Amino acid sequence: MKPTHSLKKLKELSKRYARAQQVPLHEARDLVARQLGFPHWNDVTKEHRTGWLPTQAQLSSIESLLINSLPGDEAGRPKHGSYIQTSIFENDVQHGKIDGHEYQISVSLGDVHLYGTGWHLHVPEAPNKAPRLEIAAQIEQEAPVHEPQFQKQALSIALKRAEQVRAGIASDWPRRSSKPDKEGVVRHPISGAESNKWYCLHCDSSMTGNQIAKSLWHCPTCGASPLDIHENAWWLKDGDARPKPIADNDIPERPDLVVDVRDTRLKLELDPEKITLLIRSALVEDASNASERLGALFAEISVDEDNDVWIILDVDLWPELKEPVSALAVAALLGVKVEREICLRELPFAWPGLGEHTSSTVEYTEMMLKAYASQRSDKAVE
Ligand SMILES: [Zn+2]
Repeated sequence: MKPTHSLKKLKELSKRYARAQQVPLHEARDLVARQLGFPHWNDVTKEHRTGWLPTQAQLSSIESLLINSLPGDEAGRPKHGSYIQTSIFENDVQHGKIDGHEYQISVSLGDVHLYGTGWHLHVPEAPNKAPRLEIAAQIEQEAPVHEPQFQKQALSIALKRAEQVRAGIASDWPRRSSKPDKEGVVRHPISGAESNKWYCLHCDSSMTGNQIAKSLWHCPTCGASPLDIHENAWWLKDGDARPKPIADNDIPERPDLVVDVRDTRLKLELDPEKITLLIRSALVEDASNASERLGALFAEISVDEDNDVWIILDVDLWPELKEPVSALAVAALLGVKVEREICLRELPFAWPGLGEHTSSTVEYTEMMLKAYASQRSDKAVE
C-alpha cells in the first residue's frame, strides 16, 4: 500500500465503523485516533502532515476494531475479515477497457463507481436502487457513452462488481446469515439474533428468513440496510397496523439505468452571503490600522434583492472620508452597486481611537487592556 493511502483508508474505516455502530462520524474518527494513541482525530491529521504514518500493526488493530463490531458465530469470530481487509486496506481502484475505451472501477462504502472521461456510472449497494449514468455535456466524450450498446456493457461490468461486493460482504458473515436452516431460521449478521421472520423498521414490511438472506440483509422492499432489520417489530404499539408480509413476486428487481446528461461545470451563484463575504474581505484589506480593521469586521453589510450592497461603518472605527477602494473595486467586478453610510453605534470596546496607533491586534489589545485597568485603579467610582 502506498503511504498516501493510509490516511484515506483510516478515514474510510472510520466511516464504516460509524455506519455499523450508528454513531456520528466525528465520534468514530476520535475512537480510531485513540486506538492509534492520539487524543483526537485532528491530532492524527496534524501528525500525518508532518510525515507520520501508521505502522502495519496499528492498521491491523484498527481493522480488528471493525471486525469486533461484527458478531461472530458459535465457533468464534472469523479469524480474518478477508473482505474487510482487502476492501479497506488495499487500493482497490481497477482499470479496464470497453471497446478500447479506458475506465476505472472502484468501490466505496458498498457502492460501485465506474469512471471514464466525461462519464460516471454509479451502482448503489442497495439492490433495489437504480444505477445512474452521469454524462458531462460540456466536454468531448472519449467513449461512445450515449450509445445503448456501450451503456449496456458498462452497466454489466458495474453490476458484476456489485454482486462481488455483496458476496464479499456476506463472506465475512456467519454461515447461518446467508444459509437458512430447515425451518427457515437465519442469523442477523450484525445483531446475531435468530428468527425465521424479520421486520423492516424503515417500511414496516415483514419477510421470511429466506427472503432476507437472499437480499443479503437489505430490506427486499425498500432497500433499508441490515441495521434496520429486526427480529420483532418492537416499534409498533397496540392498535398499529401489523407489518405486511412480502410476497416473493412483490420483490422488486433493480430498476433500469437512469441516464443523466448535464453540464457539470461549477457555476457561481451569487447570493447575499457570498457578496457580503467578498465585500468584508476587501474592507479588511482597505483598513490601514487595527481600529479600521475592527471597523471593517464590525461593519453592517446588507444586500438587497437586486444584490446591491449597503455598507454601514462606524464613525469611530472608520474615517468618514476614507474610500474603501478595494471594496468598491470588488463590487464593480461583481456588477453590484454600493451605498455607504456612517453611523454611531455602541462599540464593543471603549477608546476606539487606541487602535489607530498600531496595525497589530496584539498591541491594540495590550493598550486596550491597560486603559481598562488604569481606569479601574485611579478612578474606582466615576
Ligand atoms: Zn423496508
